[in-house]
Amino acid sequence: MSTAVVVGSGPNGLAAAITLARAGLDVTVLEGAAEIGGGTRTGEAIVPGLLHDHCSAIHPMAVGSPFLCGLDLERYGLSWAWPEIDCAHPLDDGTAGALLRSVTATAAGLGSDGRAWRLLFERTTAGYDRMSADIMRPLLRLPRHPLRLARFGIPALAPATLLAGLFRTEQARGLFGGVAAHAFHPLHRPLSASIGLGILTAGHTYGWAVAAGGSQRITEAMAAYLGDLGGKIETGVPVRSVSDLPPAELTMWNLAPTSVAEILGGRLPGRVMKSYRSFRYGPGAFKIDYAVHGGVPWTAEAARRAGTVHLGGTFAEIAATEREIHRGRMPDRPFVLVGQQYLADPQRSVGDIHPIWAYAHVPHGYPGDATAAITAQIERFAPGFRDRIIGTSVRSTTGFAEYNPNYVGGNIMTGAKDIPQLLFGPRKTLQPYDIGVPGHYLCSAATPPGPGAHGMCGFNAAQRALRRLGIEASS
Ligand SMILES: Cc1cc2nc3c(=O)[nH]c(=O)nc-3n(C[C@H](O)[C@H](O)[C@H](O)COP(=O)(O)OP(=O)(O)OC[C@H]3O[C@@H](n4cnc5c(N)ncnc54)[C@H](O)[C@@H]3O)c2cc1C
Repeated sequence: MSTAVVVGSGPNGLAAAITLARAGLDVTVLEGAAEIGGGTRTGEAIVPGLLHDHCSAIHPMAVGSPFLCGLDLERYGLSWAWPEIDCAHPLDDGTAGALLRSVTATAAGLGSDGRAWRLLFERTTAGYDRMSADIMRPLLRLPRHPLRLARFGIPALAPATLLAGLFRTEQARGLFGGVAAHAFHPLHRPLSASIGLGILTAGHTYGWAVAAGGSQRITEAMAAYLGDLGGKIETGVPVRSVSDLPPAELTMWNLAPTSVAEILGGRLPGRVMKSYRSFRYGPGAFKIDYAVHGGVPWTAEAARRAGTVHLGGTFAEIAATEREIHRGRMPDRPFVLVGQQYLADPQRSVGDIHPIWAYAHVPHGYPGDATAAITAQIERFAPGFRDRIIGTSVRSTTGFAEYNPNYVGGNIMTGAKDIPQLLFGPRKTLQPYDIGVPGHYLCSAATPPGPGAHGMCGFNAAQRALRRLGIEASS
C-alpha cells in the first residue's frame, strides 16, 4: 500500500488526507498544534459554555464545496444553520443594505438598485453549481463551462470601485463593498471584485450558513470520516525539518509557502525556492471575541437579524480604509466584520449571554492594539453596545501567527490576493500544487482556489498527486 503524510490538519490538509485515503493510500496527518482544524476550530474563551469560532465562521463556500458535498459529512454530525438575513451593512443614518439568499428578495430591498443587483447576480447564481467546477480549481485551465465562466469572469476582472458604479444608493454600494473587502485587497485594483463576487454568488446559491455547534464540527466530521478510511492524525507534532517526516511516497504540505521553503531548504529547486521565499502576504486581522448580554443593540433593524454585519460606512470609506492598511497605516475607523452565529445556532449562547465574533482589517504585522477601534466601530452603529459587554478575548496579528504559523503577520488569507498570486498561486506555473520535489505537493490556501474552509485546495492537490502516481482519484 502506498503511504502519504499530510503536514497540517486545516480543512485543506484534511481534504487532501481524505482524498488520498479514499484512493487506498495509508495516510498520516501530522499537526503541530495540540488540536486539529487550523482555521476551523471553535471553543470557549470567556464564559463556560459560550462557544466562539476562533477563525472561520461563515460558510457559503463550504456548504457549496464540490468536495465537501460529495462526502456526506452529515453522517458524521455536520449540519448547517442559516440566519434570517445573511449579511447586513448598516450606515450612519440608521438604514442598512441587507443580503438575503434570494437574489430577488435582496434586489427588492435595494430599491432603485434592485435591477442592477439582479443584473449582476441573477444569471451567475442560476449557473453557480456548474460554474464552480471552473472557479474552484486553478483558473488558467480550459474551462468546462466557458460561457458561464465568461459571464462571471468579465465583471470579476474589474476593480470593485468600477462595479460599485453600477449602484446609486449607499445601501447597495456599501453592501457590495463590504463583501468585496473580504479580499483584503485595495478596491481600486483590477480583479479586486473577484473574491467578493465569488462569495456573493455562492451565498445567493447556498446562503451564508454556519456549522451547527461551531466551525469545529466541520473539522470533527472530516477527521471522523478520515478515521473510518483508516487515516491517522497525530497532534503536537510540528514539522520543522525533513528529519521530522516519516518515510512516505507522498508528502502534502498544508502550510504557507515560506514555511515549506524553510523546512525543505536546499531540496527545493532554485526557482521554486525563489518564488516561495518572495511569496507576498497581505494585511492582517485583529480579532475580538465578546461575551455580550442581550446581544448587540444595532440601530438598523436588519443588523439585528443578520448572521454577519459589515461595519465600514459608505463604499468610499471602506475603499479608503482598505487602501490605508495596504500602505501600512492603521485607520482610526477600520473595516470590521461582526459575526452573530448564535442567531442561526442558539446552542452557542449561555442564557441571554451571546458570543459575538469580530475582527478588523489592519496592516500586515500591525503591532498595536485595535481593541478600542473595533469596539468604537460597533458602538457607532449600535449605541449602548459597550455597556452590554461581559468579557472579551483578543487575538492580535502576532497572536494569529502564534496560533497558526500559516497566518504570517496576521494575514488570515495565507497570502496576498494580488493578480499573480490570485491567478497562479505561489509561483507562475500551470501546476500550482507541484513544488518541484518528487512526491511533494503544496495543498494550503496559498494555492488555487484560495482561502476558505471549502477544502478544494487540498482536494485538487491530492488529485494531482494521485494522477502523478498513476492512481485514479474518486471524485
Ligand atoms: C479570523 C478568521 C476568520 C475567517 N473567516 C472565515 C470565514 O468566515 N469563512 C471561511 O470560509 N474562511 C474564513 N477564514 C479563512 C479560513 O479559516 C482559511 O482560509 C482556512 O482555514 C485555510 O485552510 P488550510 O487548510 O489551507 O490552512 P489552515 O486552516 O491555516 O491550517 C493549517 C494547519 O497547519 C498547521 N501547521 C502549520 N505549520 C505546521 C508545521 N510546521 N507542522 C505541523 N503543522 C503545521 C497549523 O497548525 C494548522 O492546523 C477565516 C480565518 C480567520 C483566521
